[in-house]
Amino acid sequence: MKKLSNLVQMKDEDWNDLKQNYVKALKNPSFMELVNLLELEDDVLMKYTSSLETSANEYHHCKNCPGLKSCKNEIQGYLYTPKKVGSDITFEYVACSYQQKEEERQNYQKNITLFEASTAIRNASFKDVNRDDRNRLELSRYFKEFMDQYEKKEHPKGIYLHGNFGTGKTYLIAALFNELAKKNVRSAIVYVPEFLRQLKSSFNTDYTLKYDYIKTVPLLLLDDIGAENLTSWARDEIIGTLLQYRMEENLPTFFTSNLDLKQLEEHFASTNSGVEKLKARRIIERISYMAKDFQLTSKNRRVDK
Ligand code: ADP
Ligand code: MG
Repeated sequence: MKKLSNLVQMKDEDWNDLKQNYVKALKNPSFMELVNLLELEDDVLMKYTSSLETSANEYHHCKNCPGLKSCKNEIQGYLYTPKKVGSDITFEYVACSYQQKEEERQNYQKNITLFEASTAIRNASFKDVNRDDRNRLELSRYFKEFMDQYEKKEHPKGIYLHGNFGTGKTYLIAALFNELAKKNVRSAIVYVPEFLRQLKSSFNTDYTLKYDYIKTVPLLLLDDIGAENLTSWARDEIIGTLLQYRMEENLPTFFTSNLDLKQLEEHFASTNSGVEKLKARRIIERISYMAKDFQLTSKNRRVDK
């Protein structure tokens, strides 16, 4: 009632201005559409013509918008939105669907720590996992089994995924980690060749912190194992100790490699200290115990091959 009496007290010419602007704005279909959605009296609506025009404009931008980068609104990712409060209107900035997705993504991605791994894999998604060859089908079945068991607090095995360069091994495991990150499961992806190089140079500094992190993180991917320049120290003190700990603690560990387990054993057998078959054998036994062996053989997906 109070609002109505304010209107009644308005001078005729002010009133006419308001009305004129409002009627003019109604010629814009987006404005009309927005106003219809609000289901309020014209008397109320016309006091907000200019703000409603801004909103209608922003709604219009959103209609055919392909993504956040193309946002034309005043505040990227947000829509200036009218909200009905009783018989009046207030305005607020509401995140658009792209922005909401982005915020969710940033939230769950905090659960995945990358150690020298490419940030591009943060976008890996199950949606893109092609199921048309048998290997991938088996693999995605195991992904499902893994997620079910993990959720039930059982201790499913990780995966040893080997195959040619560029077949999407890293991508697939990253997609699994992303899915689990949405359920608040923490994981780490370690690009082994670079990580070992860095460890040597950061020895005694943040080495212990990083190493303890990957030792104890709930899910770990050792990415591209077998592509590193191996020393006996890296094999025994770093990889061996890490695997021993994770095996005893039942912490699922994943591996990707261009080498199958037999080739990896040969790789582990020869270091700068000569050939040590027994030590290599012990590491392979741990990996076989902790992870199911899968091969990926499809085409190279890299564009820069
Ligand atoms: P690998 O680890 O086997 O060498 P990657 O996982 O690095 O292969 O994949 C190679 C490239 O192909 C990467 O750029 C990756 O983002 C892309 N890629 C892999 N699998 C898919 C997929 N299912 N959908 C879309 N892109 C993919
Ligand atoms: Mg890879």
